[in-house]
Amino acid sequence: EKAEIGLIGLAVMGSNLALNIAEKGNKIAVFNRTPEKTDEFYESAGDLKKQIIPCKTIEEFVDAIRPPRPIVIMIKAGEPVDQQMELLRPHLSKGDIMIDAGNANFRDTVARFDRLKNTDLTFIGMGVSGGEEGARHGPSIMVGGTEESWKRVEKVLTSIAARYNDEPCVAWLGNDGAGHFVKTIHNGIEYADMQMIAEIYGILRDGLGKSASEISGIFGEWNKGRLNSYLIEISEKVLAATDPVSGGPMVDMILDKAGQKGTGKWSAIEAQNMGIPATAIEAAVAARSLSSMKSQREAAEKIFGTQAVSFPIAYGPELNKDLELALFAAKIGAYAQGFAVMAEASREFNWSLPMPTIARIWRAGCIIRSQFLDEITSAFTKAPDAANLIVTPAFSDMVKESIPALRRVVGAAIAAGLPVPALTSALTYFDAYRQGRGTANLIQAQRDFFGAHGFDRLDGKDFHHGPWGSGASTF
Ligand code: NDP
Repeated sequence: EKAEIGLIGLAVMGSNLALNIAEKGNKIAVFNRTPEKTDEFYESAGDLKKQIIPCKTIEEFVDAIRPPRPIVIMIKAGEPVDQQMELLRPHLSKGDIMIDAGNANFRDTVARFDRLKNTDLTFIGMGVSGGEEGARHGPSIMVGGTEESWKRVEKVLTSIAARYNDEPCVAWLGNDGAGHFVKTIHNGIEYADMQMIAEIYGILRDGLGKSASEISGIFGEWNKGRLNSYLIEISEKVLAATDPVSGGPMVDMILDKAGQKGTGKWSAIEAQNMGIPATAIEAAVAARSLSSMKSQREAAEKIFGTQAVSFPIAYGPELNKDLELALFAAKIGAYAQGFAVMAEASREFNWSLPMPTIARIWRAGCIIRSQFLDEITSAFTKAPDAANLIVTPAFSDMVKESIPALRRVVGAAIAAGLPVPALTSALTYFDAYRQGRGTANLIQAQRDFFGAHGFDRLDGKDFHHGPWGSGASTF
């Protein structure tokens, strides 16, 4: 019996995904560049061995799969994927589908898709979220490619995806790079969500003198309410853990330099490319970069001292509720920005990205999974043409309720000299977004002064340059 699907790349993600596929009753052929890894993987597969065909050569591997063959490539992103595709290609036949399931830049995905366009092979770019655990027991899967190729893999992918209320967290989102684009924005939102939680942690730790275990308790309480989410849940657990070396809280022993692999940065870059503000995501990416400049920060602290003003609000039930609500308001801002970026990309790249479906497949399996995404699904289902999440009827009420808390918290943090860049960005995004008359009239006047760029008038009259006098650029 031939395998339903093939998979190349038996490192952490690939081997877990392969076990998941096998466990759901699908026969799978596997291959890895270094053949010893294939042996190791097969030997560790236990009862699932009967569903797995381990292959040592590409010929053997391709031959083991039922045509048209879906072949998942789950290897190191970038150049290796192109190399692997080139090695695989001569062995494939009509209708076979190469599926890149790694963290590709969607622009690479579009290029790979286009390269196969006029051949009898096709390409799927598939975003997989949820890390190792997700890959093994149910990831959130974002698929981009032709509808026909999706039909070939729909059954297998549906069987392995995470489920929320029994609905599978997998969907076909559009052509070529749609899946990897959506995965990128998922990661951008993830950066913002994590940064905002870290900023609230900073207020509690540095502004209010709370210990790691106290903050863990606070997050634990919040996880029962509107902030209920995987990221709050793991923050609670992380803050409760004890360092086996020092015996103190683990988190207090961890160097405060955040790593990044690029997907957050790509979201910010693509947002800028399209002219869509994603300030909370940008702030989160910048905060990780600033975090990595540890020695510069220490040197600056010697010059400027630690923050001098104490947090202006005393800790109690009221401030606790404000912090919770502030985090919620900021989170709405970050998600609204992420979805706005996807809406624009959908127009620009002709994808017809289905917003409610995206929120639906993020409800489980992925890192940003939460009950909140269920509310986004329903908001976009009821208001599919909304210009922005925050103006949907469901969310505008939540925004009205929570923004005052965000304003109090950000105001207090700034007064105390505590850095809250992502929370602040979400707040000022809202303040600028809901301001019917902004201040760009002055920008336009300045541009006209030095560059004779001209401006439109509020009264629609046909005078497009100002009477600036001497020193102004002439037109
Ligand atoms: P790695 O990114 O560490 O890649 C290792 C795998 O790639 C090995 O199987 C290796 O084969 C193979 N490989 C490397 N170079 C080549 C090449 N030139 N040709 C063929 N195979 C090659 O593996 P991960 O499992 O961590 O991640 C796989 C993908 O999934 C990446 O794109 C990653 O970004 C993405 N991802 C990872 C997540 C995670 O939590 N780790 C989460 C979500 C996505 P060999 O054994 O021969 O060296």
